Amino acid sequence: MLPILSVENLSVNFAQRAAPIAAVRQVSLSVAAGECLGVVGESGAGKTQVFMAVMGLLAGNAVADGSVRFADQDILGLDRGRLNRIRGSKLTMIFQDPMTSLTPHMKVGMQMAEVLVRHAGISGSEARIAARRMLERMRVPEAQRRLNQYPHELSGGQRQRVMIGMSLLCDPLLVVADEPTTALDVTVQAQIIALLREVRAKAGMSLVLISHDLAVVAGLADRILVMYAGRIVESADAGELFRRPRHPYTAELLKCVPSITGPRLERLPSLQGQPPRPGEAFAGCAFAPRCARAAARCRAERPLLHDGGSGAAVACHYPLSP
Ligand code: SF4
Repeated sequence: MLPILSVENLSVNFAQRAAPIAAVRQVSLSVAAGECLGVVGESGAGKTQVFMAVMGLLAGNAVADGSVRFADQDILGLDRGRLNRIRGSKLTMIFQDPMTSLTPHMKVGMQMAEVLVRHAGISGSEARIAARRMLERMRVPEAQRRLNQYPHELSGGQRQRVMIGMSLLCDPLLVVADEPTTALDVTVQAQIIALLREVRAKAGMSLVLISHDLAVVAGLADRILVMYAGRIVESADAGELFRRPRHPYTAELLKCVPSITGPRLERLPSLQGQPPRPGEAFAGCAFAPRCARAAARCRAERPLLHDGGSGAAVACHYPLSP
């Protein structure tokens, strides 16, 4: 099946007064039609910057190199007008904090209708009906009343439901959700994940779910990419990655995921040490200072991402046994 999104050798560098800072280093990935791809890693791993580059939303001092193809069209470096026709309709993004991505001084209904008027070319009154139906589909209570409210009058969970609804208004081919539950309390997090699962099953679009938390992607992703220090270090089918992680970093992340079947723990383990600082120079494997398996070769030679067959790949000189 042809991928809906194909990223090849993508690098993102931020210009600084001294040397540029590399945030993403030669990342290649693809998302198939209808697939849910989970992208995990700690803060600063580069996962958000990959998709900000895909969306054409990088900061002004960032430069992206490589190739990004969406629905068989090269979109990296596309001019703003052509990109805007794709962005917000066929390629959409849900951000961590809807309060910063919704316009605070516009009523919810107006913001939703504007998307439809601009991208679907329908009238304002038709757009308001479609917006109300979408809020109902997102199970926002009292949908008609919410259309006339400002974002700050809604709860955090309702605002995220509005954002998810807005992202779906024009039947997108791909939705990128960047930490969509991080700003919410645990109960609402579970509701939003359940909503995303339901929406994806019904709408059949592709979904990229970015999270620092493997537990969040566990119930949704078909395939997971693990990123560390700007690179992909492991990629595998979600079930396989949870059962048999090959990269020591993935294995450490999994130890931090609470289990309902394992022994009761007073405290969850946490990953010791810190990832390299942005712009920090290192030889060999970036994870070596935190890795219990590190050997001399790891500190001298960068491990390349090796294809392990059936879509799995790992970048490690001494991976864990399958
Ligand atoms: S290459 Fe070496 S240091 Fe890096 S993850 Fe593998 S074993 Fe650990």
